Amino acid sequence: MEKREWEPITGAKLAGFGFGFGLFLLLVLRSEPGFVFLLDHANLLFHEAGHPLVGLFSSRLEPYGGTLGQLVFPCALAVSFWRRGHPLAVAGAAIWFFENWLNIARYMADARRLELPLVGGGEHDWNTIFSRWQVLQYDTHIAAVVRLAGWIGIAAVCAWVAWRAWQDRQRAAARANPAL
Ligand SMILES: [Zn+2]
Repeated sequence: MEKREWEPITGAKLAGFGFGFGLFLLLVLRSEPGFVFLLDHANLLFHEAGHPLVGLFSSRLEPYGGTLGQLVFPCALAVSFWRRGHPLAVAGAAIWFFENWLNIARYMADARRLELPLVGGGEHDWNTIFSRWQVLQYDTHIAAVVRLAGWIGIAAVCAWVAWRAWQDRQRAAARANPAL
């Protein structure tokens, strides 16, 4: 599998990534839980696009389309960067993917309360889905698990970046001093 050349993560790039990630964290922590300014506006667009797209194929699956829509785009982006061997771009897309989980968790947690303003104006996706699955009373528990999984995903992406950067440093050191 490891045939592709990964672009090495230099110290400067790592610093840039760390700075960007710091800003992202600040934005997430300062935002209303599960709704990050701009990022979740973009997610909402993909969400709203997902419903009718899935609806074309199955009206029964349409409630899932929104969540699917907001996950598919960052996922496709991550895959495309992965194939081109850009580790930090993969990391950025993957962090965006997992940030979506926080946003999805916010929507899930609202399944019984029905307090969030719904852009589509129609059904509440997670009220519909959880009712179908007969787990509506567990909405906040499921949301908490999804939120935690999102944070674990974000942490795992950071660990992956740190691991790659460390390996790149080792390789660079070995090249500079082949005797070691
Ligand atoms: Zn929706």
